[in-house]
Amino acid sequence: MYEAPAAMLAASRRWRAQGLEVGLVPTMGALHAGHLSLIEAARGENSMVVVSVFVNPIQFGPGEDFARYPRDPAHDAGVLIGAGVDAVYQPSVEVMYPPGSATRVHVSGVGDSLEGAARPGHFEGVATVVTKLFTAVEPDRAYFGQKDAQQVAVVKRLARDLDLPVEIRVGPTVREEDGLALSSRNAYLNPEERTAAASLSAALRLAAAAYSAGERSPDELRKVLCGRFEAEPLARVEYAEVVDPETFTSPGTLAVLAVRIGKTRLIDNHELSKVFPG
Ligand code: AMP
Repeated sequence: MYEAPAAMLAASRRWRAQGLEVGLVPTMGALHAGHLSLIEAARGENSMVVVSVFVNPIQFGPGEDFARYPRDPAHDAGVLIGAGVDAVYQPSVEVMYPPGSATRVHVSGVGDSLEGAARPGHFEGVATVVTKLFTAVEPDRAYFGQKDAQQVAVVKRLARDLDLPVEIRVGPTVREEDGLALSSRNAYLNPEERTAAASLSAALRLAAAAYSAGERSPDELRKVLCGRFEAEPLARVEYAEVVDPETFTSPGTLAVLAVRIGKTRLIDNHELSKVFPG
């Protein structure tokens, strides 16, 4: 386990000097099967796998859930050992953002719409911490989940624009049996909300069916998405759009959703030209 960027970097450079390739899986902990699938992908493509565990305060807005975000170090340690990861990078907030830290990385355009608009500063926080993680680990490859599709687009843009010598790899969304995308935030749901939360994947499935039946109008596809929530009194749609997966503007074929189930904000997405899994 490494807690300081300099120690992490020294270790990573030692490995790479030995000809070992390094894969990085950035996480905020509370590890679940979605994280594990990225760790497995990293294992398959690299000799050394580093998992970072850091709940990044600057990607949470005021009034968001930073303080109560699920943290379970004992569980995470068991999962990480079980998965056979080679190193864990777990800096404290003070190490990551020492007093006086003032630099932020802003990805314009793709980071400004949808999640970026709903959560001002969110992607700036993500882009800043990802840049710092890449600097500390110097990975050959870094692994991100399609679950956070706009984050993927932001990180790819960031890596291209700053000429970061890292390959961005994307893993498919891991889902529960009823379709709910795994998320650390699912822990906030009570049993009734948990049932209602399946409406996100159900809406995406309906939109994919409409698309495969020939529907191409963004308005109609948006109506299909939104229609699924009319029968869900616990659900409130924040946005439902069909966008381009690189720019996150319309038109496109990636259906993206942000929905509140009770007080819990969930996101999900699906590429409509593909069959919905399950
Ligand atoms: P988080 O700990 O939520 O910041 O997530 C860490 C990484 O795991 C991010 O790249 C996420 O996109 C990815 N991830 C989260 N949930 C899933 C999931 N259900 N399936 C696949 N990857 C996921």
